[in-house]
Amino acid sequence: MPDIIQLLPDHVANQIAAGEVVQRPASVVKELLENAIDAGATTIKLIIKDAGKTLIQVIDNGEGMSQTDARLSFERHATSKIKKAEDLFNIHTKGFRGEALASIAAISHVDLKTKQANQELGTCIKIEGSTIVSQENVSSPKGTAIAVKNLFYNIPARRNFLKSNSIETRHIINEFQRVVLAHASIAFSFFHNDNEIYNLISSNLRQRIVAILGKKTNERLVPINEVTELVEIIGYVTRPEFAKKKRGEQFFFVNDRFIKNAYLNHAVTNAFESLLAYGYYPTYFLYLRVPTKSIDINIHPTKTEIKFDDEKTLYAIIRSTIKHSLGQYNVAPVLDFERDSSMDTPYEFKNKKSETPNVKVNPDYNPFKPVGKSSHQNYKTPPAANWESLYTGIDIQNIEVESETVITSLFSEENSSAKTYQIHKKYIVSSIKSGIVFINQHLAHQRVLYEEFLENITVKEAMSQQLLFPIEISFNKADISLIKEIKEDLENVGFLFDKISAETIVIKGIPVSITESQITIILEQLLEDIKNDIPDTSFSQLDIMAKSLAKSLAIKTGTKLDLKEQEELVNKLFLCKEPSLSPFGKTTFVTVNLGEIDNKFIS
Ligand code: ADP
Ligand code: MG
Repeated sequence: MPDIIQLLPDHVANQIAAGEVVQRPASVVKELLENAIDAGATTIKLIIKDAGKTLIQVIDNGEGMSQTDARLSFERHATSKIKKAEDLFNIHTKGFRGEALASIAAISHVDLKTKQANQELGTCIKIEGSTIVSQENVSSPKGTAIAVKNLFYNIPARRNFLKSNSIETRHIINEFQRVVLAHASIAFSFFHNDNEIYNLISSNLRQRIVAILGKKTNERLVPINEVTELVEIIGYVTRPEFAKKKRGEQFFFVNDRFIKNAYLNHAVTNAFESLLAYGYYPTYFLYLRVPTKSIDINIHPTKTEIKFDDEKTLYAIIRSTIKHSLGQYNVAPVLDFERDSSMDTPYEFKNKKSETPNVKVNPDYNPFKPVGKSSHQNYKTPPAANWESLYTGIDIQNIEVESETVITSLFSEENSSAKTYQIHKKYIVSSIKSGIVFINQHLAHQRVLYEEFLENITVKEAMSQQLLFPIEISFNKADISLIKEIKEDLENVGFLFDKISAETIVIKGIPVSITESQITIILEQLLEDIKNDIPDTSFSQLDIMAKSLAKSLAIKTGTKLDLKEQEELVNKLFLCKEPSLSPFGKTTFVTVNLGEIDNKFIS
């Protein structure tokens, strides 16, 4: 048998490596920005076209490269940043693998211009799919300009796999924000299709955070500052009352590198403890500085995860530092969401003497006497077809659906006065022919609202309520550009805009189903959901919007519902096209068969 193993040619090996390093245009943006930072640049400009699919260009005023280095930089494992294995445990730069440029050049057209300060002429190199097509001397300013064009031009499957421009742009903005938040002293600008998205001057941390997240952030920041032997922590958390219903604005940086770490995130959340209402998340920007030897950055190719030597102690330090700062800035005692005010003794009762209550009974009351007409006359009787849809896909066929008056026959065998009960302010319970149904009020309401919104959006005739006084809300620039993108859809659900300017929007009408005080929260949640809904491409933007609004507006767990509200919800749920699932695929109700209950009594 002949030998069959061969070494792969470099360009093939590079393409394979590229699969790991370059998932999408945003990965290129990250690598190029980091190279510019490693080169000591003080001003960095990012230019993209068509969400980076056509062009990604980064221009820096860093140290530049010699002619030989410029050529070498595209070789795999070519790096100026580490020399030997021990250096891996002492990394002070963003890059160190020497993979990025080689990978990028394997799957795109790259133009590189670079010049060092002491050189008269710079070098210009053009590469297409790992092959150098030209190299010449050019006059250029000090620093490096690198343009990556037609990403994935030679891997059609990858190119087709890219998401819509708005989604890819969002990925790029996310990467950009992580990088610029880690390097406040470097000036950055960012242009997309010739529009300026950001222009960030060299500044301090607080100014940089405000420049990214908008002016209103400033007064919400609580500074964090702690130096221990193990770690130095600086940064900001936002005051608990400005916590968001989204996790989006949570940033950890370790030695100026953005990282994700669920364990440390828990430490922060834990520090806020009872200061946050259920389902709210703190916003934070925390910068940890640890000895390079105590971390291992090498465990993940895209390097957002790192390993700490002593995570437990780090957890404790972060938690207590934040707790301390919250206390010091007097936020802690002011708020107490946990307290149940119904337990407080009202002032005027404090000095009253207690009396034994009188118990009044009606001697004529007979619990076995039929009550007669049910109290729920306003119960709409839905068409039987809808009721059948309730049972599709779930195994409760033994409920008989007999006549037009299905509801009554389904929900009450005896004519008891209450058809529904609410338990634990969470479930609506009702007896049905086959047993009992438990409906999760929050999830059920999500389903109802979702279908309502979807219908409104698609038929484009949503009801809008005009506001007496238009409301002005400020957003950061990235969010404003997103709002512009979805403006038409927002109008279809009932929002009316007066003006959209660089950092604010003015709203003059809102959907009838929401109240004025909810607008900001709902819009913020919506933007966040659209930004995060990256894997769900099968769904359109409209669907995401309907889901998001439904989620924001659905009655919460913990809300007491009176009988009428319970009924209305149950009624509407079972009029839905898909009553058994929430828009996010969670079960909205479960049934327990009499048989199952009976079984529990058999010993
Ligand atoms: P790494 O950053 O891991 O070293 P890269 O493939 O990203 O690997 O870059 C290879 C080398 O090219 C770097 O080590 C650096 O010497 C050089 N280089 C890349 N970009 C720049 C830049 N903008 N300015 C100066 N040198 C650069
Ligand atoms: Mg690099």
